[in-house]
Formats: sequence, structure tokens, C-alpha cells
Amino acid sequence: MIIPEHLAKQRLAAYGLRVPAGWKAATPGEAEAAAKRLNGRCVVKALIPIGGRGKAGGVKLCASPAEAAAAAAGLLGAQLRGHVVNSLLVEEAMSPQEEYYAAVMVNQELGAIDLLLSLSGGMDIETLAGREDAVLRLHAVPGRDLPLHETRAWLARAGASHTEELAFFLTALLRAAADMDAMLLEINPLALLKDGTLVALDCKLETDDNALNRQSAFQDLRDAELTPLEREAKRLGVSFVPLEGEIGVIASGAGLGMATLDMLRQKGLTPANFLDTGGGISVPMLDGAVRMLLGESRVRGMIINLYGGINRMLDAAQGIASALEHCGHDRPVVVKILGNQQEEAWALLEKLENVHVFKDVQSEKAVARLAALLGVTA
Ligand code: GDP
Ligand code: MN
Repeated sequence: MIIPEHLAKQRLAAYGLRVPAGWKAATPGEAEAAAKRLNGRCVVKALIPIGGRGKAGGVKLCASPAEAAAAAAGLLGAQLRGHVVNSLLVEEAMSPQEEYYAAVMVNQELGAIDLLLSLSGGMDIETLAGREDAVLRLHAVPGRDLPLHETRAWLARAGASHTEELAFFLTALLRAAADMDAMLLEINPLALLKDGTLVALDCKLETDDNALNRQSAFQDLRDAELTPLEREAKRLGVSFVPLEGEIGVIASGAGLGMATLDMLRQKGLTPANFLDTGGGISVPMLDGAVRMLLGESRVRGMIINLYGGINRMLDAAQGIASALEHCGHDRPVVVKILGNQQEEAWALLEKLENVHVFKDVQSEKAVARLAALLGVTA
């Protein structure tokens, strides 16, 4: 996932890397207040998860709080590079003597972590893409810290100036990238100030989603972005994707779920969602999943397609029954349940009003029945 710039910069600061002082702002008033704290001179940047803002007019150098407020008013709500600007970053303005490009990225081809440095950075790094000689590249070994002296020796061999400052910055950058499970950690521009210090003026951080389980701060970030339904699905432990249609779908397995969606479409029905229970079927899971899907008024009916091996299908049936008691029986629910305890599950479900039980392996029949119940012909 892409981590917002201001949060990425907070993380860099914890590694002793210098970033501009700054505040997030969501209104012109907040931008003005932030600019006052910075004594007026500041940079107002659109906080969107894509680069190239400078060239698209999304980075404004301002000389006073009033100018910052005006810049904010112009940016907020505007479309920039395909993203609506909902918030801004108001930062201390810096006067770089030089602008470098520094990055750490996973090199999947070599199984290495690449450290990149270009002494001609700034906005035009893309134009250097074809010129490998302009970019210094060091292949670091994953899981091994790069000692400061190795970075320094590498920089010296490459003929870089400011090797002390750069060596410290790059070594810490590599450490930060490893700790955060970064796929990409890019600083462009990395500004060299008159006094020789380096400041990360911009930071693009993209982390590996497969490592989210050990990055609790990023997990919270991801959770904050979830819709109420996605959050409920996460709580229940099911895989859920919202779709636009009218039929609630629950399946035990991703393949079965996708096949069910295809069959619905063939019969002229439209799925309201994809939902895979995975292997952990329980009474509360099915109760929660059915309630969640029927909680949407656009859902006109539901198909539940389950195979139980280890899972007890009586638990599934009890969960469905409990949810329907809560939601009512006005909408048809077609259930195809096979496997462990199927007879007990069928017996329970057959007693329920407007629940249609299928005991056959062919899902098509269950789907066709649902279409007929809803008066839909393909
Ligand atoms: P991007 O275009 O989306 O990558 O956004 P950046 O944050 O990199 O900003 C674009 C350009 O604005 C940078 O390349 C810098 O040249 C310039 N810039 C950003 N922050 C500052 C600053 O504090 N002072 C000055 N003078 N220029 C800045
Ligand atoms: Mn940039």
C-alpha cells in the first residue's frame, strides 16, 4: 500500500533523517494556521498518492499565511493527476543548493535490495531513466544491515561529494526501508542545503501488503480506509468484495464463489457481492455474513453455496437461521449445502419460510430456482 507522505516522513524522522517541519491541513484556515507557525514562508502541497505534483501545479511556494490560504483554497477539491485533493501538507520552505534523488527498492530479479542515488534529482529524474550512468546503484543483501563504512566507500568510489552526510542518510534510509517492509522508499528531491545538511523534501513509500501483519501502524491505516461492510467482513473473517448487483452471495471457497457469480449472470441475475467464508465456518460467521448482506436494501435475494469437509454444516445452518430470524423472511434465500452434517443442516433449513434447500451438486439448479423465484428470465 502507498503510505501518505506526511506519515512516511514522520517515520523517516524517527531514523534521524531530516524532513521539513510540516502540518496536514484540510481547509484554507488550517493551511493559514500552519503557515503562521512556519513564519509565513512555506510550501503547500496536495496530499495525493501519486507523484508529479510539482509539474501539475500541486506544489505551491508561498510567502505569507494569506498566500498559503489562497493556495489551499485553489487546491482543495481540485482534480490533480486523476485524484481529488482532500488534504494538503503545509511545510517549511527550504532553499536547496542541489537536489538529489535517493531510493531503496526491491530488486526482484536479483533478490537484492537496491540503493539508488542520482546526483541530478528533482522533478526531472524520469528524463534520466535511460541513462544508467547517471544513477548509482548498490545491491544490498536483504536482511543484512549495510555498515556505514561500506556506504561511504561506495560513495567515494563513485566520486560523490558530501560523502559523510550522504553515507549517513543512505544507510539510515536502507534501515528504514527494511524495517517498514518497503517495496519502494523514494526521496525525490533529497535537498542539499547551504550548510551541507540533507533534507527529504518529498517521500514516496510503498509497502509490501504481504507483510502487513507485522506493521501494526499501517494496518490501522488500512482499516481506517475500509467501508463499514468491509470492516464487518474483516471482523467475521470472510473475504468480501462489494459489487453493484441485487443478489447476495455466500460461498465456501473462492473458486466456488466465482463460479456462482458466473452462473448468476448467465441466469440474468446480478451479484451484490463476492463473499468467501474460507475454511472457518461457524454459527457467528454465517449469522454475521447473512445479516450483513441482507442489511443492504438493494439485495432482492440470496444464494448460499457451501461445501463442508471439516466444517460442520449444522453450524452454518444455525447461523443462517439466526440471521433470518433477525432480518425477516421476505426475500428468497436459496441454500445449497453439502458435506459434514448435511442432513441435519437440511432438516433445520427446510423448516424456514422462503428458504429453498438444494441437495444436489449442481449449483445451476439452485441458481435457476432463485431466478424463477424472482421472476427473472435470462
Ligand atoms: P512531486 O512533484 O509530486 O514529486 O512533489 P515534490 O514534493 O517532489 O515537489 C515538487 C518540486 O517542488 C520538488 O522537486 C522541488 O523542486 C520543489 N519543492 C518541494 N518542496 C520544496 C521546498 O521546501 N522548497 C523549495 N524551494 N522547493 C520545493
Ligand atoms: Mn517528488
